[in-house]
Amino acid sequence: MTTAGAHRVFSGLCVASGIGIGRAFVYRKGAPVITRRRVAHHQVSGEVERFLNTLHQARDEIRRIRHLVASDQGKELAQIFDAQLAMLDDPGIKEQTEALVRGKYYSAERAYSETLTKVKESFGNIENEYLRERVSDIADIENQVLMRLAGGEVQVLHSLRANTIVLAHDLLPSEMVRLERRQVKGVVLDVGGATSHAAIIARSLRLPTVTGAGDCLREVADGDLIVVDGNEGQVHLRPGPETERRYRSRLRRQLRRERDLEARRELPAITLDGRDITLMANVDVPTEVQVALDYGARGVGMYRTEFLYLNYRLPSEEEQFKVYSDIVEAIAPHPVVIRTLDLGGDKLSHVLESPPEANPFLGWRGIRICLDTPDLFKTQLRALLRAGTRGEVQILLPMISCLDELWRARTLLDEAKDELRQAGRAFTEHCKLGIMVEVPSVALMTDQFADEVDLLSLGTNDLTQYALAVDRGTSKVAGLYDPFHPAVLRLLKMVADSGHRKETPVSICGEMAGDPLATALLLGLGLECLSMSPGLIPEVKEVIRAISADEAEKIATECLQMRTGNEVRHHLENAIGEYLPFWHQRHH
Ligand code: PEP
Ligand code: MG
Repeated sequence: MTTAGAHRVFSGLCVASGIGIGRAFVYRKGAPVITRRRVAHHQVSGEVERFLNTLHQARDEIRRIRHLVASDQGKELAQIFDAQLAMLDDPGIKEQTEALVRGKYYSAERAYSETLTKVKESFGNIENEYLRERVSDIADIENQVLMRLAGGEVQVLHSLRANTIVLAHDLLPSEMVRLERRQVKGVVLDVGGATSHAAIIARSLRLPTVTGAGDCLREVADGDLIVVDGNEGQVHLRPGPETERRYRSRLRRQLRRERDLEARRELPAITLDGRDITLMANVDVPTEVQVALDYGARGVGMYRTEFLYLNYRLPSEEEQFKVYSDIVEAIAPHPVVIRTLDLGGDKLSHVLESPPEANPFLGWRGIRICLDTPDLFKTQLRALLRAGTRGEVQILLPMISCLDELWRARTLLDEAKDELRQAGRAFTEHCKLGIMVEVPSVALMTDQFADEVDLLSLGTNDLTQYALAVDRGTSKVAGLYDPFHPAVLRLLKMVADSGHRKETPVSICGEMAGDPLATALLLGLGLECLSMSPGLIPEVKEVIRAISADEAEKIATECLQMRTGNEVRHHLENAIGEYLPFWHQRHH
């Protein structure tokens, strides 16, 4: 039974970690009222003009917000608005809307709403979480334009009180970036997966965020005390004094830890006995480049370029060249390892047509798509080779499973160079070329691959799913998905050993690289270059600085003898538990 005023706990999805305590601000968005209104024949031109003027106003407003966000939070974050501006300028959408006004005498709002409904339907049918979530970008624009056309008031989230927790059914990207860190301490949303734009921004802003927290939104009232626990995925509504005290103490600990780590950010990632470990950043969206720089990453260890391809159309060579150059210049003199397109699996692009597959993770994915669509692949390769003139670019091929694929990719790389030569374009002749080691066949014959490439990067996210036959995206088998499984560890050891023998550098860029519990184990297996989500660098560095390479080797040797992933984890907790962040200590 729900009692008003009683402490309630809601469980949801951890989307951005950390603890936030504050008073509830429930954001209820007004929805535009779209009637089935038609206009008279003589009003048609005026109605079209009203529509075009409204698009202009919306564009001005978005540009204004883009400018504000750029000066307040950095230009990378402001880029989120570019897709929206592109949508406002989309000639297809404009033409279809105009045709409905002129042909069927629809009011501008009705015509625009109908046009965008069709666009959203085509997105909503896509069996891909990431793309489905792009629907919210469209909804954002739709709402803003329709509110203006239908005479509603466009809501803005600003001037919130200090220590506010924002609760909403959904927050659109443009709304999320308007939240000011100074005032907002946490966010609770009904919907949104971990790959939604809102989630990506919440992590960039380091705002503790939980989504899918049951009936929380129905039960909360403005001003209620709320605790958002982004570590455990819990929301405490009206916590009692005991719970509040416990969380305030955890929050103090978290802040103290952040301050300590901040003060130690210049310290090198060196083991007690002087082994220098290279910590690099994984970059999914350009926003993370700044975080990588803030945390002293020694380069980008993996830039996932899929993000560029999940928009409304394929990015041109010029557009890619610009994005890659910006990152390369920002990170110079350190290298940027740019992974070529890894679509497929759970990352489909609607710009590439492919029939549904029974087992997409075993299907048309990554390098397989690129080799079958050479023009698409070479466009990216040309952009990468050109960006190589701005700093050090290394090219990383995903999902390689046999040498043939590598050879064919290299032929296409040579063709891309020829094309640039013929076009008289400046490019770099000597880009390092590497492969992801994420398919067991490659891990098992790393020595052969090592002879042919400049770098090897362990993708433990996929390697785990392929080695254990556990789909990484299926929640029913999530309990079986375990990168600490001794079978996976043995594969990592084989790869690291082969790399050493052949003197080919081996790095690791799967999520495991950013897990402080795995740090000693990975070093002990012989991995000395770890690439991770940049926000995780400080915690991983703490473990590195607390152990010696000898100790790490001993720990890894012991782990390799264990029989289960749980045994490995317990062993690691016993060995290095005291150096782990406090939230990790409770997790394992
Ligand atoms: C991996 O598989 O470990 C990896 C880093 O690539 P992704 O998660 O993009 O598949
Ligand atoms: Mg992978």
